[in-house]
Amino acid sequence: MSTHDGGCLCGKVRYRIHGPFHQFHLCHCSRCRRFSGTAHAANLMAPADSLEWLGGEELVRRFDLPEAKAFARAFCGECGSMVPHLRRSGDLAVIPAGGLDQSPDLDPNDHIFWEDRAEWYEPGIGAKKYAGPPGG
Ligand SMILES: [Zn+2]
Ligand SMILES: [Zn+2]
Repeated sequence: MSTHDGGCLCGKVRYRIHGPFHQFHLCHCSRCRRFSGTAHAANLMAPADSLEWLGGEELVRRFDLPEAKAFARAFCGECGSMVPHLRRSGDLAVIPAGGLDQSPDLDPNDHIFWEDRAEWYEPGIGAKKYAGPPGG
């Protein structure tokens, strides 16, 4: 069975996903953009019981958006990195793809909430590329 490990930027929160991911959504909704500070979230979905905390679970903080039916996020209380959370329904874990040590074993299925995308998202894809910092 495949496993994927991930963690936060400061390294104190570590987790493992056992088994395959079900879905991989790039979510452009305004809530994901606001929380992440970037164009979209990259949310992997897996069964709730496939998530194992390897360390730092006591540092994990959760935010449930009060007016939302389901929107929630979890993050490291030390460095603020997004970490997995369980949906309120309890059935699925939502795992931020950028937190994994290796690439997941599937490509994104779709862009969701595409109508809400940032106006600068598509121009950004076509912007000039540098291997490192600008000018480098
Ligand atoms: Zn951290
Ligand atoms: Zn979203």
